[in-house]
Amino acid sequence: MRLVIGVTELLPQWHILLSQIGVSFEEITDVRTLEIEQYSTIIVSSKSDQVSKVRLLKYIKEGGALLCEAHVAEWLFKTNTYKNYVKFVDADINTQFPRIVPGFIQKSLILPLHATDLTSDLGRKLIQTVQIGKGYAVVLPGGLSSTVLSCQVTRRNFPSSGPLLPSERVSRQSKNTVRSMVQSVLEYLHSKRNVPFAYLWPFPDGQETIFNFRIDTDFSTPDKLNTLYDLCCQHDIPATWFVETGSSESFIEQFSNMDNQEIGLHGHQHRIWRQYQRNERDVKKGIDVLLKATISPKGYASPFGKWNISLAKAIEHHGFVYSSEFALDFDDLPYYPYLEDRFSSVLQIPVHPITTARLRNAHHSTKEMKQYYENFLQQCLRFQFPFFIYDHPTGVNLEVIKFIFNLVQEHNLQPTSLLNYAEWWKQKSTHKMEIFYQDNSLIQKINNVDPTMRLCIRVDNNRWSLVPLKEKIDLDSIQWKTSETGFDYPVSMAELSRIHYKMIVNDILQYYWSLSK
Ligand SMILES: [Zn+2]
Repeated sequence: MRLVIGVTELLPQWHILLSQIGVSFEEITDVRTLEIEQYSTIIVSSKSDQVSKVRLLKYIKEGGALLCEAHVAEWLFKTNTYKNYVKFVDADINTQFPRIVPGFIQKSLILPLHATDLTSDLGRKLIQTVQIGKGYAVVLPGGLSSTVLSCQVTRRNFPSSGPLLPSERVSRQSKNTVRSMVQSVLEYLHSKRNVPFAYLWPFPDGQETIFNFRIDTDFSTPDKLNTLYDLCCQHDIPATWFVETGSSESFIEQFSNMDNQEIGLHGHQHRIWRQYQRNERDVKKGIDVLLKATISPKGYASPFGKWNISLAKAIEHHGFVYSSEFALDFDDLPYYPYLEDRFSSVLQIPVHPITTARLRNAHHSTKEMKQYYENFLQQCLRFQFPFFIYDHPTGVNLEVIKFIFNLVQEHNLQPTSLLNYAEWWKQKSTHKMEIFYQDNSLIQKINNVDPTMRLCIRVDNNRWSLVPLKEKIDLDSIQWKTSETGFDYPVSMAELSRIHYKMIVNDILQYYWSLSK
């Protein structure tokens, strides 16, 4: 059998999700000729004609595996549904999908009436599993997948055992929750069909996660920059510096004198606009300042982590390799954002949005800050997304940053610049994978494969292994690990969703800063 996911209509949201997961996928050219061995799982992304429906039902009755959203299930299986506003997906230990990151959805979804798995804020179930003939289907809430295209922003609390919850303005929807739901469901469907679920591992050399320290220079002084730079050098950290060029023009050479550090752009005026021309002019001005110090930036991170399509087009116009904005996404794997009618060529690299200054704002002691990042690293390791931390030279707690650097060393994580990771991810994305499963082995053609790439193989919904890419992988001869389940969050989703007076104060302050700078 081919271990490829077939998608009936390759909508942009499915393209993003499947590319992030790293699984092999393609659009099904003609559903009417669909064969049982052609795809290990299919995603029926939209309703279609009666002939296609008959063929899809035949595929599943003969033993296929199928994923769809509830509005499609209504058409395909005549399942009953109802509309419901889903604030968040709760942490759930009694689930067949134990690797889902809890998070915010905050939109009205179409829920399967007979869903039995995964719980929302109101205690409603979100996922329906169905057996039809010899095959299996999983029904996700209708409207869930398209949340990854959302550009909405809101202030969010982040889990901490400190006195107050730290908050930041970030993407309104937790897009990593949607991705982890899709990934878990695909793994489940493959196990139901007794075939391995194989995808390219998101980190080089099979590392458990990857570390980057990102610094936005925001109106910093040469001294403060130096202090942080010295700390990076002492710990061999190739940090990524996003320079706000407006205030640093007079000492811009300081950045070209830095060793083993990546220098990117954080805008010239430390603001973004709705209009393309204004964004484009600001990006151009910033590039020109950096060029004076012979720095040609490949990465961009916008002020306040804001993102809009006109900014995305401006940075694309100037040939940036990647950008990083937590208003678009955070704590997630990279992807190419969708710009209304096409994908951007600029890779988005999500980072964690909480700085030590945000933690201080939430009355955290140094000890509580350390605990916060230690807990966040555990989340990254558990749910396999990058340990990408960001801060500023002004207002940073250096003792905490030093602690993070030591933590990285203790866990044997390889620190990397964001540009290195972006280039590695881009290279990985070009790898076309077609794996066949036969006689308990994975068979594939291998040509000039990047030796740092690994294949993650998951079987039986609870065992997994990382292996180098080879022409033949005998599943009987590899070492398996048991998947961990559950995660001990310091606070519940219900607590995270509560609005605290500090959130409102911080929103007003940030609005004021964005106007005054
Ligand atoms: Zn900034």
